Amino acid sequence: MLRNISLIPKSFQHVSLRGNHCAVPTTKLFINNKMVESKTNDWIDLCNPATNEVITKVPKATQEEMENAVEAAKAAYKTWSKTSILTRQQVMLRYQHIIRNNMKELAKSITTEQGKTMVDAEGDVLRGLQVVEHCCSVTSLQLGETMPNIAKDMDTLSFRTPLGVCAGITPFNFPAMIPLWMFPVALVCGNTYVIKPSERDPGACMMLVDMLREAGAPDGVVNVIHGAHDAVNFICDHPDIKAISFVGSDQAGQYIYERGSRHGKRVQANMGAKNHGVIMPDANKENTLNQLVGAAFGAAGQRCMALSTALFVGDAANWIPDLVERAKKLKVNAGHIADADLGPVISPEAKNRIHRLIQSGIDEGAHCILDGRNIVVPGFEKGNFVGPTILTDVTPSMECYREEIFGPVLVILKVNTLDDAINTINSNMYGNGTAIFTTNGATARKFTQEIDVGQVGVNVPIPVPLPMFSFTGSRGSFRGDANFYGKQGINFYTQLKTVTQMWREQDVTHTQAAVAMPT
Ligand code: NAD
Repeated sequence: MLRNISLIPKSFQHVSLRGNHCAVPTTKLFINNKMVESKTNDWIDLCNPATNEVITKVPKATQEEMENAVEAAKAAYKTWSKTSILTRQQVMLRYQHIIRNNMKELAKSITTEQGKTMVDAEGDVLRGLQVVEHCCSVTSLQLGETMPNIAKDMDTLSFRTPLGVCAGITPFNFPAMIPLWMFPVALVCGNTYVIKPSERDPGACMMLVDMLREAGAPDGVVNVIHGAHDAVNFICDHPDIKAISFVGSDQAGQYIYERGSRHGKRVQANMGAKNHGVIMPDANKENTLNQLVGAAFGAAGQRCMALSTALFVGDAANWIPDLVERAKKLKVNAGHIADADLGPVISPEAKNRIHRLIQSGIDEGAHCILDGRNIVVPGFEKGNFVGPTILTDVTPSMECYREEIFGPVLVILKVNTLDDAINTINSNMYGNGTAIFTTNGATARKFTQEIDVGQVGVNVPIPVPLPMFSFTGSRGSFRGDANFYGKQGINFYTQLKTVTQMWREQDVTHTQAAVAMPT
């Protein structure tokens, strides 16, 4: 059983026992294409969520180390931004190949540090890999526009030019996918990068940047710093960082959006969610209940697109007992155990918070028809496990409805009509994702037209767009202008430069300067 990283696999270059007097390996910084041992005295213990054993110590990088990372990115920008687009494309082509060959090793790191099941961890890598694959088509993505003869002998051309040094700040729940939403898109457009992965599971990001080096990225093109608030403030304030991509909670996202914007940076911030699934009485029952269980409890509910709220319309509420039976069948275990359906949540604090929100629902009048709070997983008694939990008869005023629980908890509301469901969802502050389950095309069309949520599924519970589109969460789930990846991602990481030029075979000589606007 993989309980701990006692023997460090060759591909885990980012952790080592060197320079560390206790038996716990340290996580490195990554500066100028090298793994660097931090000189800090301030370390964060990273525990395996299934055992709560400390598996690595993550440094809070010193000011000097963070400066070194920006300096490396700044120096690299001078040449990388002028590298031919075909060279950058070649790096991405090699990169996607290396990631694909190392999916299992990446998944192992994710499961050990984050807790999700191995198969789900591979999905985490795959969804990020798809962004890298899409970046391989940069030669058409970064095209500008041209318009000849906008006046006599005059043409206009637009270019999408890189911004400079960009930065990313990522959450714990997708340790591979979310870093891959960020730096590949930035780099392929000619930017260089500093990333601060979640201090709770930076291992996959470390492996990914090392694979980028292997793919031929020059020194300094991507750099990794670690830390918490100080590292975030450093990124928001540094004058040489031109843009910030953030994914995480509301509190941090709002703060980073405001602080970064105040310093004149571009900021895109994907934040929290409360995604509703609408179950119509005409839906395909089997399919709908299976989809609902998977989307509510998969990854222990720690997905920003988890379907954490179900709105049963009319007679569809009769299916709730069947839903409970299906949820009961899910196996809760450590993520590396072969038949685990859901692993632990990230920390004891997260587990306590989830317990508190379940109890608040009960105290406010909801009924807990499946209670996962007292689960014990044999062999992993100290892990942060919460079993699938279902609260029914929930109302919009309850805290368990208003707050993002971010655990394996499904809250159920019963409504009479589709209009009631639409009004409930549109009144919620978040706009990340939603789904409707129905066999009626007119119902589906009305829903997709009237719902004010950025990502909508019809019989698709987690409608995350593939990278040829963009991740389009809206309202309270997003701050900024251009979204992540796809065309929007390219827009975010480039500046439009428009050149208007006049070339004449023979210069026309005017006797007098023209001062009025041409008419
Ligand atoms: P988090 O906000 O705690 O951490 C995200 C990053 O911000 C980390 O790197 C962390 O070091 C930093 N950070 C944390 N608190 C901060 C603060 N007060 N000030 C400045 N920086 C801070 O988020 P998390 O718990 O790691 O991730 C879970 C959250 O992320 C959930 O709310 C989830 O919905 C959201 N999320 C959203 C999306 C999306 O695309 N909308 C995707 C994944 C996760």
